[in-house]
Amino acid sequence: MEAETSLFDCRMCGHCCEGKGGIVVSPADLTRLAACLRVSPATAARDYCENSGGKLKIRTGDDGYCLFFRSGRGCLVHDGKPAICRAWPFFRGNLEDPLSLEMAKEFCPGIEPAADHATFSDAGRRYLRENGLLASNSQCEANALILK
Ligand code: SF4
Ligand code: SF4
Repeated sequence: MEAETSLFDCRMCGHCCEGKGGIVVSPADLTRLAACLRVSPATAARDYCENSGGKLKIRTGDDGYCLFFRSGRGCLVHDGKPAICRAWPFFRGNLEDPLSLEMAKEFCPGIEPAADHATFSDAGRRYLRENGLLASNSQCEANALILK
């Protein structure tokens, strides 16, 4: 989508794949991830996920990165990655709060530095809607994808 790609172009730096406990795996995500890995959902959950903060999340390796991240190659499960990964940088905080977007720009070199908040917010909401990435169940889906 033209508006979105002019606002965001991933540079594969891996910053967003580092850190513990942020990659929520919803039931729909688990089905997609398991199909990508060619294992059962139960096996994918057992071998690659953990329960944290009441939700299923992808585990982090000893290097501090998501188990599926490889330096120089990026995400090993690109087609099966969870909605939260597919949605970045269009998270609720960045869509609702200009300061949050400015901080995200410093963290993520893929976000167009000149993007203004209103344009980013409109395009991001459309991107989430058109790609089926909006969530509604705070029990098992990522809060960042639940818009007010
Ligand atoms: S931090 Fe941004 S540019 Fe880097 S891998 Fe993540 S989305 Fe891509
Ligand atoms: S699933 Fe892929 S995109 Fe998501 S955090 Fe892991 S390596 Fe990064």
